[in-house]
Amino acid sequence: MHTPVRPGSRSPGAGPAVPDGARDVVVVGGGIVGLAVAWRAARAGLTVTVLDPSPGDGATHAAAGMLAPVTEADFGEDDALRLHLAAAAAWPGFADDLHAATGADVGLRTAGTLTLAYDADDLASLRRVLALHAAHGLASHELTVADARRLEPYLGPRVAGAAWAPADHAVDPRATHAALLGALDGGAGPETLAGAGAEARAAVVRASARRLALDPSGRVVGVHDDAGRLHAAGAVVVAAGWESGTLLMDVPGVVVPTRPVKGQTLRLDAGPDLALEHVVRGVVQGRPVYIVPRDPVPDGQGHDCAGHREVVVGATTEENPDDRRATAGGVFALLRDARALLPGIDEAALVDVTPRARPATPDNLPLVGPTAVPGLHVATGHGRNGILLAPLTADAVVAGLTGTPLPADVAAALSPTRTDRFAEPGFDARRSAAFSPTTPR
Ligand SMILES: Cc1cc2nc3c(=O)[nH]c(=O)nc-3n(C[C@H](O)[C@H](O)[C@H](O)COP(=O)(O)OP(=O)(O)OC[C@H]3O[C@@H](n4cnc5c(N)ncnc54)[C@H](O)[C@@H]3O)c2cc1C
Repeated sequence: MHTPVRPGSRSPGAGPAVPDGARDVVVVGGGIVGLAVAWRAARAGLTVTVLDPSPGDGATHAAAGMLAPVTEADFGEDDALRLHLAAAAAWPGFADDLHAATGADVGLRTAGTLTLAYDADDLASLRRVLALHAAHGLASHELTVADARRLEPYLGPRVAGAAWAPADHAVDPRATHAALLGALDGGAGPETLAGAGAEARAAVVRASARRLALDPSGRVVGVHDDAGRLHAAGAVVVAAGWESGTLLMDVPGVVVPTRPVKGQTLRLDAGPDLALEHVVRGVVQGRPVYIVPRDPVPDGQGHDCAGHREVVVGATTEENPDDRRATAGGVFALLRDARALLPGIDEAALVDVTPRARPATPDNLPLVGPTAVPGLHVATGHGRNGILLAPLTADAVVAGLTGTPLPADVAAALSPTRTDRFAEPGFDARRSAAFSPTTPR
């Protein structure tokens, strides 16, 4: 069903013929997933064009950046847990490679995650989750409130209990995206290639994909953009977030039922009086909230913001379209619950409210890899965990593009993400209540 694209595929016998002037790969969508795929593909020797009218302005812009396989684990979601654990393992190498290639610090913090229960009912539910963690052998355990305060002295007076997950970390998604974009982007058209070395094989074009180009045999051979240009390619990777399903709706043989699930995050500027060290998650009267600190602004610069740090508070989860509206109720609820756990938040400056839509699927698992349509690959539907999943997704997609096998344990973790699962008999995507395409842009 799938023929790999190989570096130098213009030479005879090395994969499908890529016409003169075509790229090995066009990636539709320049969020963290599309750019991670493009960057890894370029480093694997493929020529790559990314199409996106506004790279990084989707869900990636809102994400807090938790890398949280343990504290995101849920009942009945064992496939997601295995996938998320494999994804977490891919992050340190990805961050190191990106740093080595670009010099960028992507803000990977490995200080662990503290979870707080606000009242007795919240503690009962936290203990059920801890039992789930224990059943899976995950690194987490209950803490006394006194021990939790030793970890984070800024906790409020009313905390009923706590738990500690030492291997759940965080990264700065905006910094990661900027590093990837800088590595890939020549800032010009498809003819101009960026930089030198592996990234010289990549370009980012500010344009929207309108539809895929198929040859008479049904093979995908490129993408038409909104200016009427054809971007010819040996393979196309659709990584357009929640809009992926809309773009692919008329392509026979592939069903990608992505939908938008709106979320809002807040960015605060916290001073030295709220010097959080760990990700703090909590349940406040049944409502989840999290507070993710970045590294402090370096001292010694002699300016006012020394010791300040960005703190991200999130997130609402709304079955709403990607309307980009910050709501008073959403902001109020996040601040109310965050300050119940960390009252010092009152003193922080509210800098930014970011409403965006997660790319969700009916089974809460992404779609990653080659499809039944020759030349078409997808990398979408990453829902609440797309930052966590981006490096692993990139490895998987590039393995599919080049025909390189993945290690057996990684392939096993990725197997629930196979792209044909919604095309099976019995799943009617267009009738699914969870599938709500809107007008493509
Ligand atoms: C509030 C919130 C908090 C989150 N927190 C976390 C977190 O803590 N940890 C975590 O792991 N994940 C988190 N996520 C999830 C994560 O942000 C997403 O899963 C991830 O960003 C998805 O990346 P993406 O590249 O697939 O999609 P996006 O970032 O949405 O990028 C899709 C891109 O495709 C482009 N596009 C769309 N249509 C077209 C077209 N026709 N042609 C060309 N380009 C197109 C868009 O312009 C956009 O740039 C959060 C999400 C939200 C909304």
